[in-house]
Amino acid sequence: MLPTLFLSHGAPTLPLMESPATRFLRGLGATLERPRAIVVASAHWETHQPEVTAVAVNDTIHDFYGFPKALYELTYPAPGDPALAERALGLLAEAGLPATLDTRRGLDHGAWVPLLLAWPDHDIPVLQVSIQSHLGPEHHEKLGAALAPLRAEGVLLVGSGSFTHDLRRFRGQPVDAPVQPDVTEFATWMDFAIREGRNEDLLAYRKRAPHAVKNHPTDEHLLPLYVALGAAGPGARPERLHSSAQFSMLRMDAYAFH
Ligand code: ZN
Repeated sequence: MLPTLFLSHGAPTLPLMESPATRFLRGLGATLERPRAIVVASAHWETHQPEVTAVAVNDTIHDFYGFPKALYELTYPAPGDPALAERALGLLAEAGLPATLDTRRGLDHGAWVPLLLAWPDHDIPVLQVSIQSHLGPEHHEKLGAALAPLRAEGVLLVGSGSFTHDLRRFRGQPVDAPVQPDVTEFATWMDFAIREGRNEDLLAYRKRAPHAVKNHPTDEHLLPLYVALGAAGPGARPERLHSSAQFSMLRMDAYAFH
């Protein structure tokens, strides 16, 4: 069975730069069994209630401003999978999470940036499920758990966010600038909690992890982690696939949950 994944998608410019995180994502697809479809919970689609995309072919949403022109020319026209979207909707309803279909929306950069690097042929059907940033980690763990049966059907469940995400601190630092100490301290605490399976600590990370609120002023970029954790279920074996940082404050860590 495929693992579930948490990926840090970084800045939109990730596909245009050379960095350890870019190289990691470029190699990721080859390390996994080919999925039948991919479901992504991205930090960049927030709705009041869960929504699932159901389109024939995905549009590429360039949901960012002021970046190089070459970035706006990148597209990821992967097929959708409306039947799978209906199935996801049914699973969410069974779990007490009423959801609706969005039959227009394409892929935001939280979804297409890592997929473009990992599966550049865009021939695997992709759909997105939205996050509800007002509902916190526990809700997202339930959201992931609801979708877990899809794993047995060859579907890869991906949470795409950022391990740390305090963009207020970005002041044009070079990509390889020294990492700020509180960023490392927070990420190290999270890494141990993940690897030791301390789920209660993870759910209460905003209170228990050092510098949590500083590293996630709002937590929409960490919530996809909980979707991946929930989809893997209790007792899953965590594996850190990648660890690096960019611009001194953006950790690019990635995990698989087996
Ligand atoms: Zn983002």
